Amino acid sequence: MTNNITWHAPTVTRGQREELNGHKSFILWLTGLSGAGKSTLAHRIEEILFKRGCRTYVLDGDNVRQGLCRDLGFSPADRQENIRRVGAMGKLMADAGLIVITAFISPFRVDRDSIRALLEEGDFIEVYCDAPLQVCEERDVKGLYQKARKGVIPEFTGISSPYEVPLHPEIIVQTGRDTIDSCALQIIEYLDSQEKLTTTHKKANHT
Ligand code: ADP
Repeated sequence: MTNNITWHAPTVTRGQREELNGHKSFILWLTGLSGAGKSTLAHRIEEILFKRGCRTYVLDGDNVRQGLCRDLGFSPADRQENIRRVGAMGKLMADAGLIVITAFISPFRVDRDSIRALLEEGDFIEVYCDAPLQVCEERDVKGLYQKARKGVIPEFTGISSPYEVPLHPEIIVQTGRDTIDSCALQIIEYLDSQEKLTTTHKKANHT
């Protein structure tokens, strides 16, 4: 199918885009149960980075399912394809110089690992949003857990479909215990420690 297709190398490189933007580009991959706080945290991180002059974009589960992945459901095969598309999309966006923040349950280790494998070392930063099922179920903002418990929603992660905890995430945040601001700060501190928010020519100025 892809035999006649070759990757067209751009004349404007990713490195040049990063220099222009003054920061590295990468994917910050948030994973965790529904209600763990991934979306809220993703947008909070984006606000902070945006204020620091970074070019960012949040890819969110519900939003992607309205367009790019509107043909997909929640069977294991469809979930896998959903994550594959998001990974491919995220890679292109990172190639365009952006900091991509994704908020997907992405319950299966093999799917997350396949995105990691797609990217260069350091370009995939896995953030485990660790919140106990009980806390997520108590929050139940969208009433999904209640529906899942009644069997109205089949294959619901944490109830009738497994969530595989990341084995070696770059960051773990306790979103069931800590505030969103505290979790966001921990992530920004990690990015700073990895010098992701600067480039050789442009040092961040965020005093
Ligand atoms: P997810 O994207 O993981 O499904 P959301 O970001 O939609 O989760 O969060 C679900 C609900 O829980 C929201 O109402 C949000 O305000 C709340 N919430 C998320 N994280 C926290 C937190 N760390 N502390 C308190 N409430 C939180």
